[in-house]
Amino acid sequence: MVLKLYNTLEREKQEFKPKEKGKVKFYSCGQTIYDDLHVGNARAYVVWDTLRRYLEYKGYTVRHVQNITDVGHLTDDGDQGEDKVEKRAKKLGLEPMELVEDQIKRYFEDTRAVNVERQDIMPRATGHINEMIEYVQEIYDNGYAYEKDGNIYFDVEKFSEDYPYGEMAKKDLEQLKEEARSRVEPDEKKTNQFDFALWLNSEGSEHLMEWTADFQIGGELLESKGYPGWHIECSVMSQKYLGDEFDIHAGGKDHIFPHHPNERAQAFAASGDGQARYWLHNEFIQVEGEKMSKSEGNFYTVKELLDEGFNGNTIRLYLISSHYRSETDFSMEGLEKAEKELTRIKRTLQKIEKFSSSGATILDEECDEFLKKFESAMDDDLNTARAKQILMKFVNDINSEIERYEDGSLDKARDYILEGLQLLGVELEENEKEEGLVKSMLELRKDARNREDYETSDFIRDQLEGLGFEVEDTEKGAIWVEKS
Ligand code: AMP
Ligand code: ZN
Repeated sequence: MVLKLYNTLEREKQEFKPKEKGKVKFYSCGQTIYDDLHVGNARAYVVWDTLRRYLEYKGYTVRHVQNITDVGHLTDDGDQGEDKVEKRAKKLGLEPMELVEDQIKRYFEDTRAVNVERQDIMPRATGHINEMIEYVQEIYDNGYAYEKDGNIYFDVEKFSEDYPYGEMAKKDLEQLKEEARSRVEPDEKKTNQFDFALWLNSEGSEHLMEWTADFQIGGELLESKGYPGWHIECSVMSQKYLGDEFDIHAGGKDHIFPHHPNERAQAFAASGDGQARYWLHNEFIQVEGEKMSKSEGNFYTVKELLDEGFNGNTIRLYLISSHYRSETDFSMEGLEKAEKELTRIKRTLQKIEKFSSSGATILDEECDEFLKKFESAMDDDLNTARAKQILMKFVNDINSEIERYEDGSLDKARDYILEGLQLLGVELEENEKEEGLVKSMLELRKDARNREDYETSDFIRDQLEGLGFEVEDTEKGAIWVEKS
């Protein structure tokens, strides 16, 4: 079966074929590090983590790079406003890098909680300023940039004579020009309002993060103290770690314009290559029809949900319950449903342990059928929503008909369920100490029941309930599930 992915560039699902056989080079745009992750951000990282898992399952060796933006992303997402990191640092009375160090730590706590594995390379913008300066110079030397008062801007009109700037957004130049005019305060330093900054001069401003750059402009040396524009870091870092042309470039839907067209334009202008061949974008998690975002204040952070008692696996299961290209309204009911599903899965796995005998493997056909359907959902543009439904149906069928399988081994079914969960990023950790303790208590309860000492057996059951374990009696003995 072939994996198909929806390529925003052509607005269609396409068969995925990496440039180099067996290897996938994959870049996803990462977090601007100034505040905690909200559930919308988490969706983006969970989706790309799921894609990496699935690519590896299909036998590819994946090199996944995801950047950390610690300078240059301004509050208006364009070339105006304050640096997001500096703004929050000032508010908290911290140095920008103090805030960044703290937030990176918190970022990893949150992504680890929802089982997002660390990407192979996580480059930081501030660690690549020299490369960015060189890259800006290349763009200038190739004739696609101009300088004004120590700022260097990308010349969109000039670039459009040679390359299709509006291709990703599916908009023509006039439309983009018009939109730029109405979007921002006019900036008289720009030739056209849709030009964007490659380098911003900070002389005379209160900018805290600044570097001295030496540019050769029209044969003369220009010393400019300043900082990079937001888009340049991704062009530089993706190409540095993955080469001029790589396979997949991913990010949120908001990047369809302007971040990704600008990144791509810079790459064409510097190297003649447009970075990636497949451009993937996740839709938004919404709240009452609006994008969940920090600026709107309508967000739930991952930390808040964990504090409210939701388990990281529950949040993960919830996030993959919808397809990444569907707008999804966040709801507590959705999370509670995922919590119940997780309990049902754990209970079924316990039942399998109790009922599975070492006899002949049964369910072979059903197992293979399950895997085929699961894979075909994942192959269809990573349809995790459908894959999860297929997994839940398989789990529910086994759960409700467990007695039917009494004379055979359910090991294969268990392995397939665990494999499916692993691909979706739900990792059921085993706590041997805890398991040992619960098993001993259940043995004591069994003894009490055999003695018809129901007072003691009920007491043990209540104690287990109080500790967060649900006990269910089956004809093969008691099974227990830790409540999610
Ligand atoms: P930001 O913090 O805005 O830089 O966003 C970090 C990443 O999360 C980007 O790839 C965004 O596109 C993505 N993102 C932000 N808000 C949402 C949302 N509500 N739903 C899904 N993805 C989002
Ligand atoms: Zn980017």
